[in-house]
Amino acid sequence: MPELPLLAWVLVVAALVIGILAGHFGWGSRWPRSRTKLHPDYLTGLDYLVSEQPDRALDMFLKLMDANADTIETHFALGTLYRRRGEVERAIRIHQNLLARQELASEHREQAMLALAQDYLRAGLLDRAEGLFQQVCEVPRLRASALDALRGVYERQHDWQQALGVYRQLARIKAAPPRFVAAHYLCELATLAMERGETDNARQLLREARAETKPFPRAAILRGQIAEGAGQTDLAARLLRNAVYESPKLLQDELPHLLRLVGPEGRDKLLEELVAQAAARDFSELKRLVFAAIAADLTDAKPLRASIERVFAEDATLHAVCQETRSPQVERIAHEIGALLAQAEKYRCNECGFAGRSFYWHCPACHSWDSFEAYAIVKLR
Ligand SMILES: [Zn+2]
Repeated sequence: MPELPLLAWVLVVAALVIGILAGHFGWGSRWPRSRTKLHPDYLTGLDYLVSEQPDRALDMFLKLMDANADTIETHFALGTLYRRRGEVERAIRIHQNLLARQELASEHREQAMLALAQDYLRAGLLDRAEGLFQQVCEVPRLRASALDALRGVYERQHDWQQALGVYRQLARIKAAPPRFVAAHYLCELATLAMERGETDNARQLLREARAETKPFPRAAILRGQIAEGAGQTDLAARLLRNAVYESPKLLQDELPHLLRLVGPEGRDKLLEELVAQAAARDFSELKRLVFAAIAADLTDAKPLRASIERVFAEDATLHAVCQETRSPQVERIAHEIGALLAQAEKYRCNECGFAGRSFYWHCPACHSWDSFEAYAIVKLR
């Protein structure tokens, strides 16, 4: 877990002190109140925080919270900080303690329920999180936050139908994430339908995915699989070709598949098209194609030869590798790199840095959609 920056703790501590002083002097209140002395236990609590005894500090703050109603917002802040720091049990204690208070104002109770649900989600207690988020959805001012969090719960449960339902509710209040997220839910449902052998249902779901957003390479790949299963090889090849055109990062996994679909007689024509397409974009796209081709054992393919040599000459890292090995034989080094690629982590999530050998549409670590990028080139450094 990342350490919380010291500044964040200083801000919370400052907020606690201000909260107490406000309580002490009656700031921010229209009503006279009995003047209370600054409680010495607060300073003890701060001491515990500073001396890194967080459990003792938390005990102290919870005890004091019961005695001082002015610090509620500060305790919400403290709970959020604990959750973000990964100390979910402490966050749960704070929010449960708030909810146990009889005199808690309704807006604070609703806020505490939302916060506790977020704690449960972070702790992986999905059923408890789901129940609380559903209750909070009934509160108009918190509805968008609670629905969006509920969408996250269903994603983690792989309950794509429910996730799609919540997405539609969010769309009705204009609080939905981008439409490609709904298209991914529809593709997940189509994949399940294909596994059950319900091809017509899958095709309908893929049509709905394409209606959400176009182009959508994932839908094209799945539709291609259905076509291939039905013996429509040309259609399958065309759909896969479109998918890698729209999303070249798919080349690394899909190039061998595409080559199988076009057959030996279509290989060179396909490679020529891919080279022309990559060269028309930029050097990084050509490099991507060359690495995908090397990984697919196409180092000897004639349409690729000039591109492979150009990438080896112009890419600084590969140029250094060639010189280090004191070998002018690009082809041999390309084979060696191909062997390395077979073992390497090939993809990395742009959002959280999670890396692995498999491609995911939905990052298993941070749950972002479409955040995986081909990465093996970096691993060679
Ligand atoms: Zn991620």
